[in-house]
Amino acid sequence: MKKVLYPGSFDPITKGHMNIVEQASELFDEVVIAVLQNKSKNVGFFTLEERLEIVKELYKERDNIKVVLGGGAAADLALLHGCKSIIRGIRGISDYEHEVELTMANREISNGEVNTILLFADKEYQFISSSMVKEVFDLEKDISRYVDPLVNEKMLMKRMGN
Ligand code: ADP
Repeated sequence: MKKVLYPGSFDPITKGHMNIVEQASELFDEVVIAVLQNKSKNVGFFTLEERLEIVKELYKERDNIKVVLGGGAAADLALLHGCKSIIRGIRGISDYEHEVELTMANREISNGEVNTILLFADKEYQFISSSMVKEVFDLEKDISRYVDPLVNEKMLMKRMGN
């Protein structure tokens, strides 16, 4: 069985991420989504626990999609979950350099055991990013084009203090 790890902060998970998950699920028998702690440069919206819960809820009916809590090097996490590949998405040139660095680091950490596959979201989801969603949301504008209705609802609830 071929399994692949899709690591990310998913703060929040967007339709861009979800499009990548769908593509990965057609290429692999199982996709393991690993929800990671935010990188320090990102301002967090949801806590790690909230993000994990949301992603689990979104994929609860899908037998070939598992959601786990991540941490440490993606290559170690991949091997821990029986994955020899990692999926990452690329939006444009700005993502490229960072993803090449991560690919090489993960290859080295795993002594060549874990490789990375880069995917591109479909045109309508190509430029959606979590930070753009948060900015539009902060302006109190509609984000339903960018996120699943469940995510939209959870963001509104969080704004209201629930
Ligand atoms: P990280 O903080 O690890 O970059 P993100 O949650 O921001 O985590 O993203 C996880 C992965 O999904 C990254 O490889 C990112 O480039 C990719 N990604 C995010 N949005 C899109 C999109 N709209 N199209 C393609 N890839 C995307």
